[in-house]
Amino acid sequence: MFASLLPGAPNLRNLVSNMVLHAGVAAQSATEGAVVGTMVHLTSATANSLIVHPGTTPAERAVLNAISGHLASGGIATADPFHELYRSCEQACAHLYGDAWSNPTPFELRSAVGHPRGLHDPYAVDGKTASPSDGRRVLLRVSTTRLGPEAYAVLPRVFLHELICHVGAGDGEDPDPLSPFAEGLMDWASLHYLEAWAPVLCGGFSNAAVIHAQASAGSFKAHPSTKAARETGQDAALMLVHQRASQPEIARLAIDLNAAGRSRESKNEFVRRVLGGRLDAASAPLSDVLDGRTSVEVLLDSL
Ligand SMILES: [Zn+2]
Repeated sequence: MFASLLPGAPNLRNLVSNMVLHAGVAAQSATEGAVVGTMVHLTSATANSLIVHPGTTPAERAVLNAISGHLASGGIATADPFHELYRSCEQACAHLYGDAWSNPTPFELRSAVGHPRGLHDPYAVDGKTASPSDGRRVLLRVSTTRLGPEAYAVLPRVFLHELICHVGAGDGEDPDPLSPFAEGLMDWASLHYLEAWAPVLCGGFSNAAVIHAQASAGSFKAHPSTKAARETGQDAALMLVHQRASQPEIARLAIDLNAAGRSRESKNEFVRRVLGGRLDAASAPLSDVLDGRTSVEVLLDSL
């Protein structure tokens, strides 16, 4: 859509790609702020001209406004929309996890040629969390040739998945793409918090962030086995909500389970028991946890 918006003129895809390219290069040098800042000031006029263009849709305009806002407000030192958005997400997650949170090693941005997952959809970004022994660093790969407004809008979803599901995990184990707990129940919780926090984290593009978070589900779990892990955990979450009728309460339970210093296998077993009808949020022992009468650790140890 943007490609045909202003024939012969730089379009948003180019604008964002240029920003990413320079941010990726800058992230590996000591002059990150200056390089990114110079680039975004040069390109902010392009974003502003697209905002007022009659062919721009409201959804596109929301993303452009957000980008333009980052460009205008950040100044040289902070005008890097990727690190800035990541920092906001990280702060929100630190608050969510409280004492159980320990900051991961600094966020890393890398550029990729083409779609990082080899797909043909617009979500040309990919997130990954390093192992605990490597400080659970969050790595974002972005395509310098294909990054556009949809990919930018899905970034909060990617960041919150990595931070909530993997950085906050108290299991001390490497991330496992086949875990129904980490990739299913926790992914469901991360989407819950994205929807709750989008107005604050995303400002003008909060609706676009939620729409693309939902629309991108198939892109991030394209393989049948990872898709099955996600769906299994999501089904367990929906069963718990149905039994207890409170989405925020079950999302909070997921956070507490994830933060617990217990094995991932015990947490996967939790998901299996819920799905098998052997754990019910309305009855003990799970209701005891939800009502604060016992801890998630006691529950996990009893499985
Ligand atoms: Zn994951």
